[in-house]
Amino acid sequence: LVQPHALFGAERDNSLGFDLADEETLARIEAARSVDLPDAGPLTVSAPVGTVRPVINPATGEKIAQVTEASAETVTQAIADARVWDAPAAERAAVMRRAADLYEENYGLIFAALGREAGKSLGDAVGELREAVDFLRYYAQQGENSAEAPRGIFTAISPWNFPLAIFSGQIAAALMAGNAVLAKPAEQTPVIAAIAVRLLHQAGVPAHALQLLPGDGATVGAALTGDARINGVVFTGGTDTAKIIARSMAQHMAPGTPLIAETGGLNAMIVDSTALPEQAVRDIVMSSFRSAGQRCSALRCLYVQEDVAPHLTQMLKGAMDELSVGDPWLLSTDVGPVIDAEAQEGIVDYLRDNTNRVLHRLNVPSQGHFIAPTMLRVNGIEDLEREIFGPVLHVATYRARDLDKVVAAINSRGFGLTFGLHTRIDSRVQEVTDAIHAGNIYVNRNQIGAIVGSQPFGGEGLSGTGPKAGGPLYLTRFFAPKAADADA
Ligand code: NAP
Repeated sequence: LVQPHALFGAERDNSLGFDLADEETLARIEAARSVDLPDAGPLTVSAPVGTVRPVINPATGEKIAQVTEASAETVTQAIADARVWDAPAAERAAVMRRAADLYEENYGLIFAALGREAGKSLGDAVGELREAVDFLRYYAQQGENSAEAPRGIFTAISPWNFPLAIFSGQIAAALMAGNAVLAKPAEQTPVIAAIAVRLLHQAGVPAHALQLLPGDGATVGAALTGDARINGVVFTGGTDTAKIIARSMAQHMAPGTPLIAETGGLNAMIVDSTALPEQAVRDIVMSSFRSAGQRCSALRCLYVQEDVAPHLTQMLKGAMDELSVGDPWLLSTDVGPVIDAEAQEGIVDYLRDNTNRVLHRLNVPSQGHFIAPTMLRVNGIEDLEREIFGPVLHVATYRARDLDKVVAAINSRGFGLTFGLHTRIDSRVQEVTDAIHAGNIYVNRNQIGAIVGSQPFGGEGLSGTGPKAGGPLYLTRFFAPKAADADA
């Protein structure tokens, strides 16, 4: 159990009371490694109809459970069965808090599912559980005194990269506004979703107010976003998927039905010649390679001022060499697998097409869906065809006098999720952060953090509709605004 700890510092993350240096905690987590994960399937009011397929561990390729997927008929029936949760807001808040407690109590099972179904490292699993719990408690607090009316039935569609936190945050917000929720998790992560929904039901959420509909986007997702009985959609995932959903909603639903969409990014960081190199390198490596680059906030395109570029690139290579890639369950692992064979093949193809740009590349285990952390040379963000959702960092250099052009180039891509700046010139911080279009801006630190309640998260432009998740405006989109007036 005594293992060297990863560069990304899992051992320091004890904010939920998990001291990963504590032997008893480690023993419990270690035991969860071999726990049988439950099978997943629709958790609906009426009996579901669907097909069965295996759930695969991305680090080993082994089957870890099976999922019965919902069909279009299951969705139709679930919509008919859905009922808003008409308990007083304070009662719903108490249930959310009970669910948060249950999430914490079941941490062993949750870590096992996050590790084996989503390929999460232990450090990431701890962070994700904490964020999920924070969402439950935060929206409980935000909504408990509200007298607003619910909209009705909300569809919640989530991605695999935060299969517990984003999944739970969407559901908690919609429920705290009094809506009924039909939740579709990503195809790759139905087991985590089923564990979460069982705990929410156990805490007291009525079955008709929260139904789980695992299945693919083309069938279940499309049915959930193309039905006139749906009163709102909350979605997190790719920008192209959001556009498909928006088109379907416009065709099938009442005009103005809310779509809350948090989508992809082409996130940039600028490092000027006054930046502290050690600090910049640490934050670049963290922003690009933590979670195997599978965070929407991850750094994709780094601009380094040309005067310091040779030195900084050399340091980056050295820092990359210190990363350990492999089994996500070892505390010594920095970079785990990507989510599945399809993701791996897509990134491998991209890297093959860009072999002539490779500045540095690590080795990876031959088994499982791993991608070698890689640094590619580019002229600028215009060279990036699309968001590559993996451990691939693109590096460009710029001349000091061209800083405005760099900012304009970043803005011209139309995304606006995260942005990082490393400089020690105060006026530059002001100028650049004023000019950049990004929802979350990070100065002299890594750019992958968000903290429910104090650092709300969400982008602009192609990256999202707002309002930011974990912020004070989020719940308002889930309510139906009503104004009443009466004469005596
Ligand atoms: P995705 O392919 O867009 O999938 C997201 C969800 O949409 C999945 O549940 C998916 O189901 C579903 N879906 C697919 N097609 C659909 C359709 N036609 N109708 C309705 N639903 C459909 O994204 P992903 O690969 O899971 O996640 C990675 C992306 O999410 C990246 O672009 C990342 O930047 C973004 N992301 C953004 C944020 C943020 O806060 N801005 C946070 C996390 C991730 P299937 O799984 O069955 O395809």
